[in-house]
Amino acid sequence: MTTVPMTSPDRAGTSLSRALFLVHTHRAALRSDLTEGLGLTRTATGLVLRELETLSLVRTVTAPRADPWVPTTGRPSHAIEIHPDAPTVLAVQVQARSVLVTLARLGGKLGPVDEVPLPETATPEAVLGLIADLLCTRFATPGRPPFGVGLALPSAVGSDGTALAAHHLAWPHAVPVHRLLSGLLDRSGFGEVRLHVGNDANLAALAESRHGAGQGAAQLLYVMTGQVGVGGGLVIDGRLHLGSAGYALEIGHTPVRQGKRPCRCGNRGCLEVEADPMALLDAAGLSTTYPTPDAVRAIVGRRHVDARARAAVDLVTRQLAGGLASLINILNPDRIVLGGMHAELLAAEEERLRSVISRHSFLDQDAHIELRAAALDASALAGAAELALQPLLDDPRLLV
Ligand SMILES: [Zn+2]
Repeated sequence: MTTVPMTSPDRAGTSLSRALFLVHTHRAALRSDLTEGLGLTRTATGLVLRELETLSLVRTVTAPRADPWVPTTGRPSHAIEIHPDAPTVLAVQVQARSVLVTLARLGGKLGPVDEVPLPETATPEAVLGLIADLLCTRFATPGRPPFGVGLALPSAVGSDGTALAAHHLAWPHAVPVHRLLSGLLDRSGFGEVRLHVGNDANLAALAESRHGAGQGAAQLLYVMTGQVGVGGGLVIDGRLHLGSAGYALEIGHTPVRQGKRPCRCGNRGCLEVEADPMALLDAAGLSTTYPTPDAVRAIVGRRHVDARARAAVDLVTRQLAGGLASLINILNPDRIVLGGMHAELLAAEEERLRSVISRHSFLDQDAHIELRAAALDASALAGAAELALQPLLDDPRLLV
């Protein structure tokens, strides 16, 4: 049992939660940053910090002075870092062909990632059974269970943890993933655990907003491609916008102008099929069942010497820009972060992308919206960790 200082001015824990969030998201590296971020006095900040230290969530160290020979006035600055004994969580991501698992910590740090191929027949039972086995055999730590488990799925996911439409896994409609995996973990001896399930692109958006190219944005729109399809998320003031039942921001199914390609959702002309790697390869005259990032880079790289590559890049850039313009008109974000193939198109064709966005978005006539490439390597996995850490970020006293 941890003792919480009785002198804490923060009975509801609000400042405690805000302070942990500021440290977790790299905005309070120094005690003076924390004082400023919380808007509290030095004394009140000190009490909040002391409580987080008592909970073994953060620790303070005296920051080395830049130049010890230069005399300084005032008090020494104290650096704040995540405590080495702070709880860990398990982050899991189901991809089209494999499962990724890692241990993660506060501060957005991921451990080494284990990648295991999906079973030949990747039914929900087979995939969730594989995840339960992996967690039990490779990640069970008797005596120090993880604080929680976060699972990222390539599917719209409801707030009750139901995978509505995992098209790329060919799963049936509405798989109750949370209930099935909780049961499997319980029966396999892993024990009761806080399990959270989310959409992979939504979770990637969350991770980019907290630890990547979205840091500092108030209303971040994130749009990305996987190997097939388009996804994304909207993060408002550090939190995902999920809609009434958890299914908001199915960006891939935004219709684009003059789009005709059939989509897995039953419609035609969705961003999902008009601006994904498969659309680029098709437009370049290369048929494949599974486009790789290298194949995408090769087409983008040949656009100045190969007319077909040029036309393919132009078409997909135009479709992406049209979709982004619609999303800008509806959502009015202050920054857009692009991932996967869309980041490649931003690097290669930024001017064209911006000009089409401006033409079709009345909110962006002057191209003021910031566009950036995604910065994280394993953003969906990092987002699964964020999901598992969220209860602790909301209430650090859960550890008491
Ligand atoms: Zn669709």
